Amino acid sequence: MTEKKFVLGFDIGGTKIGIGLASTDGELLGRERLENKDTDPADVLPKLAAAAKQMVAAAGLSMDKVAAFGISAPFPADAARGIMTNPPNNPKWRNVPILDYLREHLGIAGCFENDANCGALAEWFFGAGRGCKDFIYLTMSTGIGGGIVSSGRLVRGGKALSAGELGHIVVQLDGRQCNCGMKGCYEAYSGGRAVAQRVQKELAGQPDSMIMKLVGGKVEDIDMVAIEKAVRANDPYATAVWDEMSLRSAQAFGIFINAFNPEKLILGTLAWAIGDLYTDPIKKYLPRFCWAEPMAACEIVSSELKRDIGYYAGVAAALNYLKEQGKLA
Ligand SMILES: [Zn+2]
Repeated sequence: MTEKKFVLGFDIGGTKIGIGLASTDGELLGRERLENKDTDPADVLPKLAAAAKQMVAAAGLSMDKVAAFGISAPFPADAARGIMTNPPNNPKWRNVPILDYLREHLGIAGCFENDANCGALAEWFFGAGRGCKDFIYLTMSTGIGGGIVSSGRLVRGGKALSAGELGHIVVQLDGRQCNCGMKGCYEAYSGGRAVAQRVQKELAGQPDSMIMKLVGGKVEDIDMVAIEKAVRANDPYATAVWDEMSLRSAQAFGIFINAFNPEKLILGTLAWAIGDLYTDPIKKYLPRFCWAEPMAACEIVSSELKRDIGYYAGVAAALNYLKEQGKLA
Protein backbone atom coordinates (compact mmCIF):
# COMPACT_ATOMS: atom_id res chain seq x y z
CA MET A 1 0.00 0.00 0.00
CA THR A 2 1.23 3.47 -0.88
CA GLU A 3 1.89 5.71 2.10
CA LYS A 4 -0.56 8.56 2.50
CA LYS A 5 0.95 11.75 1.19
CA PHE A 6 -0.19 15.31 0.94
CA VAL A 7 -0.40 17.98 -1.75
CA LEU A 8 -0.57 21.77 -1.78
CA GLY A 9 -2.58 23.88 -4.19
CA PHE A 10 -2.56 27.51 -5.27
CA ASP A 11 -5.45 29.07 -7.16
CA ILE A 12 -4.32 32.39 -8.61
CA GLY A 13 -7.38 34.58 -9.13
CA GLY A 14 -7.77 38.21 -10.16
CA THR A 15 -8.65 39.38 -6.63
CA LYS A 16 -7.83 36.43 -4.34
CA ILE A 17 -5.41 33.53 -4.13
CA GLY A 18 -6.75 30.33 -2.63
CA ILE A 19 -4.29 27.99 -0.92
CA GLY A 20 -5.26 24.44 -0.04
CA LEU A 21 -3.67 21.41 1.61
CA ALA A 22 -5.11 17.96 0.91
CA SER A 23 -4.23 14.34 1.38
CA THR A 24 -3.74 12.08 -1.63
CA ASP A 25 -6.93 10.25 -0.67
CA GLY A 26 -8.90 13.44 -1.15
CA GLU A 27 -9.36 15.06 2.25
CA LEU A 28 -8.96 18.84 2.45
CA LEU A 29 -6.90 19.61 5.58
CA GLY A 30 -6.34 23.32 5.29
CA ARG A 31 -7.48 26.29 3.27
CA GLU A 32 -6.79 29.98 3.22
CA ARG A 33 -7.37 33.00 1.02
CA LEU A 34 -4.90 35.82 0.38
CA GLU A 35 -5.75 39.17 -1.17
CA ASN A 36 -4.52 39.57 -4.73
CA LYS A 37 -6.09 42.80 -5.94
CA ASP A 38 -3.57 45.12 -7.65
CA THR A 39 -0.69 43.24 -6.08
CA ASP A 40 2.94 43.09 -7.09
CA PRO A 41 4.16 39.51 -7.55
CA ALA A 42 7.40 40.41 -5.77
CA ASP A 43 5.31 40.92 -2.60
CA VAL A 44 2.90 38.06 -3.14
CA LEU A 45 5.21 35.16 -4.01
CA PRO A 46 7.09 35.13 -0.66
CA LYS A 47 3.71 35.32 1.14
CA LEU A 48 2.45 32.33 -0.83
CA ALA A 49 5.43 30.19 0.08
CA ALA A 50 5.26 31.27 3.74
CA ALA A 51 1.50 30.65 4.01
CA ALA A 52 1.87 27.20 2.45
CA LYS A 53 4.66 26.22 4.85
CA GLN A 54 2.61 27.54 7.76
CA MET A 55 -0.42 25.51 6.63
CA VAL A 56 1.66 22.34 6.43
CA ALA A 57 3.08 22.96 9.93
CA ALA A 58 -0.38 23.75 11.35
CA ALA A 59 -1.59 20.35 10.10
CA GLY A 60 1.20 18.72 12.11
CA LEU A 61 3.13 17.76 8.98
CA SER A 62 6.60 18.38 7.61
CA MET A 63 7.33 19.37 4.00
CA ASP A 64 8.82 15.95 3.23
CA LYS A 65 5.28 14.54 3.52
CA VAL A 66 4.08 16.87 0.76
CA ALA A 67 4.44 15.06 -2.56
CA ALA A 68 3.72 17.97 -4.91
CA PHE A 69 1.98 21.28 -5.39
CA GLY A 70 -0.28 22.47 -8.17
CA ILE A 71 -0.88 25.96 -9.52
CA SER A 72 -4.20 26.89 -11.10
CA ALA A 73 -3.61 30.03 -13.15
CA PRO A 74 -5.53 32.19 -15.60
CA PHE A 75 -4.48 32.17 -19.23
CA PRO A 76 -2.80 33.57 -21.28
CA ALA A 77 0.23 31.86 -19.78
CA ASP A 78 3.23 29.81 -20.78
CA ALA A 79 1.89 26.57 -19.36
CA ALA A 80 4.83 24.43 -20.47
CA ARG A 81 7.26 26.57 -18.45
CA GLY A 82 4.87 27.62 -15.67
CA ILE A 83 5.06 31.33 -16.39
CA MET A 84 2.17 33.73 -15.91
CA THR A 85 2.68 35.88 -18.99
CA ASN A 86 -0.14 38.48 -18.94
CA PRO A 87 -3.17 37.50 -16.86
CA PRO A 88 -5.93 40.00 -17.76
CA ASN A 89 -6.95 40.77 -14.15
CA ASN A 90 -3.47 41.13 -12.64
CA PRO A 91 -1.80 43.98 -14.54
CA LYS A 92 1.44 43.85 -12.51
CA TRP A 93 1.92 40.14 -13.11
CA ARG A 94 3.96 40.07 -16.30
CA ASN A 95 6.18 37.08 -17.13
CA VAL A 96 6.19 35.73 -13.57
CA PRO A 97 7.93 32.32 -13.32
CA ILE A 98 5.68 31.18 -10.48
CA LEU A 99 6.27 27.44 -10.98
CA ASP A 100 10.05 27.75 -10.64
CA TYR A 101 9.69 30.13 -7.68
CA LEU A 102 7.50 27.76 -5.69
CA ARG A 103 9.59 24.71 -6.62
CA GLU A 104 12.64 26.47 -5.28
CA HIS A 105 11.06 27.90 -2.13
CA LEU A 106 8.99 24.86 -1.16
CA GLY A 107 11.62 22.34 -2.25
CA ILE A 108 9.07 20.00 -3.84
CA ALA A 109 7.82 19.13 -7.34
CA GLY A 110 4.93 21.05 -8.82
CA CYS A 111 2.79 21.64 -11.88
CA PHE A 112 1.01 24.50 -13.63
CA GLU A 113 -2.40 24.21 -15.30
CA ASN A 114 -4.92 26.63 -16.71
CA ASP A 115 -7.74 27.40 -14.31
CA ALA A 116 -10.56 25.91 -16.38
CA ASN A 117 -8.68 22.60 -16.59
CA CYS A 118 -8.18 22.81 -12.84
CA GLY A 119 -11.92 23.31 -12.38
CA ALA A 120 -12.45 20.03 -14.22
CA LEU A 121 -9.77 18.33 -12.11
CA ALA A 122 -11.31 19.69 -8.90
CA GLU A 123 -14.70 18.22 -9.83
CA TRP A 124 -12.96 14.97 -10.83
CA PHE A 125 -11.16 14.43 -7.53
CA PHE A 126 -13.58 16.12 -5.13
CA GLY A 127 -16.93 16.87 -6.77
CA ALA A 128 -19.47 15.88 -9.42
CA GLY A 129 -16.89 14.14 -11.64
CA ARG A 130 -15.80 11.54 -9.05
CA GLY A 131 -15.67 8.08 -10.61
CA CYS A 132 -16.09 9.39 -14.18
CA LYS A 133 -13.66 8.63 -17.00
CA ASP A 134 -15.27 10.93 -19.55
CA PHE A 135 -16.74 14.27 -18.64
CA ILE A 136 -16.63 17.92 -19.60
CA TYR A 137 -16.57 20.80 -17.14
CA LEU A 138 -17.74 24.25 -18.22
CA THR A 139 -17.04 27.32 -16.11
CA MET A 140 -20.16 29.26 -17.28
CA SER A 141 -19.27 32.51 -15.52
CA THR A 142 -18.38 35.92 -16.99
CA GLY A 143 -16.81 33.93 -19.83
CA ILE A 144 -17.11 30.29 -20.77
CA GLY A 145 -14.11 28.06 -20.16
CA GLY A 146 -13.85 24.32 -20.36
CA GLY A 147 -11.93 21.31 -19.19
CA ILE A 148 -12.14 17.91 -20.86
CA VAL A 149 -11.44 14.57 -19.23
CA SER A 150 -11.51 11.84 -21.88
CA SER A 151 -10.69 8.15 -21.38
CA GLY A 152 -9.51 8.94 -17.87
CA ARG A 153 -7.07 11.71 -18.78
CA LEU A 154 -7.13 15.48 -18.83
CA VAL A 155 -7.00 16.60 -22.47
CA ARG A 156 -4.42 19.38 -22.85
CA GLY A 157 -3.90 19.21 -26.60
CA GLY A 158 -0.71 19.70 -28.56
CA LYS A 159 1.95 22.37 -28.62
CA ALA A 160 -0.34 25.26 -27.68
CA LEU A 161 -1.77 23.30 -24.72
CA SER A 162 -5.03 25.03 -25.55
CA ALA A 163 -7.50 22.14 -25.64
CA GLY A 164 -10.72 22.82 -23.77
CA GLU A 165 -11.34 26.36 -25.07
CA LEU A 166 -14.97 25.37 -25.43
CA GLY A 167 -16.33 28.91 -25.19
CA HIS A 168 -14.68 29.76 -28.50
CA ILE A 169 -16.18 27.26 -30.87
CA VAL A 170 -17.95 29.27 -33.55
CA VAL A 171 -21.69 28.67 -33.46
CA GLN A 172 -22.68 31.37 -35.97
CA LEU A 173 -21.00 32.38 -39.22
CA ASP A 174 -20.12 36.11 -39.04
CA GLY A 175 -21.97 36.23 -35.74
CA ARG A 176 -21.64 38.38 -32.62
CA GLN A 177 -18.21 39.84 -31.87
CA CYS A 178 -16.36 37.88 -29.19
CA ASN A 179 -13.80 39.32 -26.75
CA CYS A 180 -11.27 36.85 -28.15
CA GLY A 181 -11.30 38.64 -31.52
CA MET A 182 -13.33 36.09 -33.47
CA LYS A 183 -16.97 36.42 -34.45
CA GLY A 184 -19.78 34.07 -33.56
CA CYS A 185 -18.16 32.27 -30.61
CA TYR A 186 -20.40 30.38 -28.21
CA GLU A 187 -19.22 32.69 -25.41
CA ALA A 188 -20.41 35.74 -27.37
CA TYR A 189 -23.96 34.31 -27.19
CA SER A 190 -24.08 32.69 -23.76
CA GLY A 191 -21.22 34.04 -21.60
CA GLY A 192 -22.51 36.05 -18.62
CA ARG A 193 -20.62 39.20 -19.56
CA ALA A 194 -21.53 39.00 -23.24
CA VAL A 195 -25.24 38.57 -22.50
CA ALA A 196 -25.20 41.45 -20.00
CA GLN A 197 -23.38 43.72 -22.49
CA ARG A 198 -25.84 42.86 -25.22
CA VAL A 199 -28.78 43.76 -22.97
CA GLN A 200 -27.08 46.98 -21.82
CA LYS A 201 -26.69 48.00 -25.44
CA GLU A 202 -30.22 47.09 -26.42
CA LEU A 203 -31.90 48.75 -23.42
CA ALA A 204 -29.90 52.00 -23.36
CA GLY A 205 -32.45 54.81 -23.45
CA GLN A 206 -35.36 52.53 -22.50
CA PRO A 207 -36.04 53.42 -18.84
CA ASP A 208 -39.49 51.79 -18.91
CA SER A 209 -38.22 48.29 -19.62
CA MET A 210 -38.48 45.87 -16.70
CA ILE A 211 -34.76 45.14 -16.58
CA MET A 212 -33.91 48.87 -16.49
CA LYS A 213 -36.36 49.36 -13.62
CA LEU A 214 -34.76 46.45 -11.76
CA VAL A 215 -31.37 48.20 -11.87
CA GLY A 216 -32.79 51.62 -10.94
CA GLY A 217 -32.25 53.00 -14.44
CA LYS A 218 -28.49 52.44 -14.37
CA VAL A 219 -27.85 50.68 -17.65
CA GLU A 220 -24.29 49.79 -16.62
CA ASP A 221 -25.67 47.81 -13.64
CA ILE A 222 -27.51 45.35 -15.88
CA ASP A 223 -26.14 41.90 -15.10
CA MET A 224 -27.26 38.28 -15.19
CA VAL A 225 -29.00 38.67 -11.82
CA ALA A 226 -31.27 41.43 -13.18
CA ILE A 227 -31.94 39.51 -16.39
CA GLU A 228 -32.78 36.36 -14.40
CA LYS A 229 -35.23 38.32 -12.22
CA ALA A 230 -36.98 39.71 -15.30
CA VAL A 231 -37.25 36.23 -16.81
CA ARG A 232 -38.82 34.92 -13.60
CA ALA A 233 -41.31 37.80 -13.83
CA ASN A 234 -42.16 36.76 -17.42
CA ASP A 235 -40.83 39.91 -19.08
CA PRO A 236 -41.09 39.16 -22.83
CA TYR A 237 -37.80 40.84 -23.80
CA ALA A 238 -35.80 39.09 -21.05
CA THR A 239 -37.44 35.78 -21.93
CA ALA A 240 -36.42 36.16 -25.59
CA VAL A 241 -32.79 36.91 -24.59
CA TRP A 242 -32.81 33.90 -22.25
CA ASP A 243 -34.23 31.70 -24.96
CA GLU A 244 -31.48 32.61 -27.40
CA MET A 245 -28.81 32.09 -24.73
CA SER A 246 -30.26 28.65 -23.97
CA LEU A 247 -30.56 27.69 -27.64
CA ARG A 248 -26.90 28.56 -28.22
CA SER A 249 -25.89 26.60 -25.13
CA ALA A 250 -27.79 23.60 -26.44
CA GLN A 251 -26.05 23.99 -29.80
CA ALA A 252 -22.63 24.00 -28.11
CA PHE A 253 -23.50 21.16 -25.72
CA GLY A 254 -24.67 19.09 -28.69
CA ILE A 255 -21.26 19.52 -30.31
CA PHE A 256 -19.48 18.50 -27.08
CA ILE A 257 -21.74 15.49 -26.62
CA ASN A 258 -21.34 14.21 -30.18
CA ALA A 259 -17.59 14.87 -30.14
CA PHE A 260 -16.74 13.35 -26.74
CA ASN A 261 -19.67 11.15 -25.63
CA PRO A 262 -19.20 12.36 -22.02
CA GLU A 263 -20.89 10.70 -19.05
CA LYS A 264 -21.50 14.15 -17.60
CA LEU A 265 -21.47 17.80 -18.51
CA ILE A 266 -20.66 19.55 -15.24
CA LEU A 267 -21.68 23.20 -15.22
CA GLY A 268 -20.11 25.94 -13.10
CA THR A 269 -21.27 29.27 -11.70
CA LEU A 270 -24.39 30.40 -13.55
CA ALA A 271 -25.88 26.91 -13.63
CA TRP A 272 -25.75 26.33 -9.88
CA ALA A 273 -26.57 29.92 -9.02
CA ILE A 274 -29.70 29.95 -11.21
CA GLY A 275 -30.75 26.31 -11.11
CA ASP A 276 -33.44 24.71 -13.27
CA LEU A 277 -34.29 27.98 -15.01
CA TYR A 278 -30.80 27.78 -16.49
CA THR A 279 -30.59 24.10 -17.38
CA ASP A 280 -34.18 23.17 -18.30
CA PRO A 281 -34.39 25.26 -21.53
CA ILE A 282 -30.98 23.91 -22.64
CA LYS A 283 -32.19 20.34 -22.12
CA LYS A 284 -35.35 21.17 -24.07
CA TYR A 285 -33.35 22.29 -27.13
CA LEU A 286 -30.61 19.67 -26.90
CA PRO A 287 -32.22 16.96 -29.10
CA ARG A 288 -31.86 19.32 -32.08
CA PHE A 289 -28.08 19.29 -31.77
CA CYS A 290 -26.88 15.78 -30.96
CA TRP A 291 -27.64 12.13 -31.44
CA ALA A 292 -30.09 10.47 -29.09
CA GLU A 293 -27.75 7.75 -27.77
CA PRO A 294 -24.88 9.96 -26.54
CA MET A 295 -27.46 12.48 -25.28
CA ALA A 296 -29.20 9.81 -23.22
CA ALA A 297 -25.82 8.69 -21.89
CA CYS A 298 -24.89 12.21 -20.72
CA GLU A 299 -26.08 13.70 -17.48
CA ILE A 300 -26.15 17.51 -17.25
CA VAL A 301 -25.34 18.47 -13.66
CA SER A 302 -24.15 21.46 -11.64
CA SER A 303 -20.76 21.80 -10.01
CA GLU A 304 -20.71 20.24 -6.54
CA LEU A 305 -17.88 22.41 -5.29
CA LYS A 306 -19.58 25.66 -6.30
CA ARG A 307 -17.84 28.74 -4.87
CA ASP A 308 -15.32 26.60 -2.94
CA ILE A 309 -13.84 25.28 -6.18
CA GLY A 310 -10.84 27.64 -5.79
CA TYR A 311 -9.63 25.77 -2.71
CA TYR A 312 -9.65 22.52 -4.64
CA ALA A 313 -8.36 23.68 -8.03
CA GLY A 314 -4.65 23.73 -7.18
CA VAL A 315 -4.63 20.59 -5.04
CA ALA A 316 -6.56 18.74 -7.77
CA ALA A 317 -3.88 19.79 -10.28
CA ALA A 318 -1.25 18.36 -7.91
CA LEU A 319 -3.20 15.11 -7.49
CA ASN A 320 -3.53 14.79 -11.26
CA TYR A 321 0.20 15.45 -11.64
CA LEU A 322 0.91 12.51 -9.31
CA LYS A 323 -1.75 10.38 -11.05
CA GLU A 324 -0.19 10.98 -14.47
CA GLN A 325 3.13 9.79 -13.09
CA GLY A 326 1.55 6.68 -11.59
CA LYS A 327 2.34 7.94 -8.09
CA LEU A 328 -1.24 8.08 -6.87
CA ALA A 329 -2.59 4.87 -5.35
ZN1 LIG B 1 -14.21 33.83 -28.80
